[in-house]
Amino acid sequence: MNEHIIQIIELTKKYGNIKAVDNVSLGIRRGEIFGLLGPNGAGKTTIIKMLATLLKPTSGFAEVWHHNILKEQDAVRRSIGIVFQDPSIDTELTGRENLDFHARMYGLNKEKREKRIAEVLDLVELNDRAKAFVKFYSGGMQRRLEIARGLMHYPKVLFLDEPTLGLDAQTRHRIWEYIKRLNKAQKVTVVLTTHYMEEADYLCDRVAIIDNGKIIALDKPNNLKNAIGEDIISVQVSDGGKFSDILTKIEYIKRIRLHDDFLFLSVENGEIMIPRILRLAHEEGIFVQSVSLRKPTLEDVFLTFTGRTIREQEASVKEQIRMKAKASMRMGGKR
Ligand code: ADP
Repeated sequence: MNEHIIQIIELTKKYGNIKAVDNVSLGIRRGEIFGLLGPNGAGKTTIIKMLATLLKPTSGFAEVWHHNILKEQDAVRRSIGIVFQDPSIDTELTGRENLDFHARMYGLNKEKREKRIAEVLDLVELNDRAKAFVKFYSGGMQRRLEIARGLMHYPKVLFLDEPTLGLDAQTRHRIWEYIKRLNKAQKVTVVLTTHYMEEADYLCDRVAIIDNGKIIALDKPNNLKNAIGEDIISVQVSDGGKFSDILTKIEYIKRIRLHDDFLFLSVENGEIMIPRILRLAHEEGIFVQSVSLRKPTLEDVFLTFTGRTIREQEASVKEQIRMKAKASMRMGGKR
């Protein structure tokens, strides 16, 4: 179980001056669901594309199912299935026809195709809609069909790039169940990218948190969360900066993060600490607007390592893209 079936060694991908992936090394174990978690632009898709031999690394290398991604591309491709963010199924064909087409490309004979199509349709519960045109499928059904297609040729490893992007919460939960099921029933190692913390937390045996092309933390979700403190108390106050300075001197508070009007305090036994903190605020003349207590999430882990939330990081990437678009429009106007 602990055997590494994907081994990544100092993998780097540069686009001009941008290091999309920056010297990443890691091992992925046979049979696990492994998550690459990080904001948009962190480098997750680029890592998967290199592992799938669709992109050439600038330096470093990797092995997938013991095949070198630089020297044994065909063998790597035979070992893997891929489901990308952008839909790539033919909506003018039926679900079954899409699967059949894919299986023919992998050279499966008629008997094997029939058997496998029935198996994968069963797995994602699309049997009764297999003969309908894909253009009449819902978004969730299309995603399920894509996952089924990725499994057609019995891959050892399935890469899922943002498997639930754009789906509603209920459909997302169903997809999670299918992913768990295929991992168990088909014994497929799953490597997925996501920027949804709940997804990584719920689905993954281990998670690598990626930021700016680098791994900033890697462990089981529970270990990552436990490592940053038992409980998180969020306190919304009138003067966060002042209260933060006061709390810094208090021993039982392990870590403090200030974000807008909110202070996030990492403590043991949060229930007992809340009255003490409120008393202190009162003594110092600080007005407390709200208090809440929760267990740490992977968002807190990201915040601890980067000083930003995943959402903030995404907002800043979107802002950069918007500024670039604006600048290029201005350039276009001048010409
Ligand atoms: P993620 O999957 O985590 O959202 P990506 O791997 O898609 O991130 O992108 C990582 C970085 O590489 C981003 O800064 C992105 O803009 C950049 N990038 C990705 N593809 C290209 C490309 N073809 N040309 C230039 N830059 C790219």
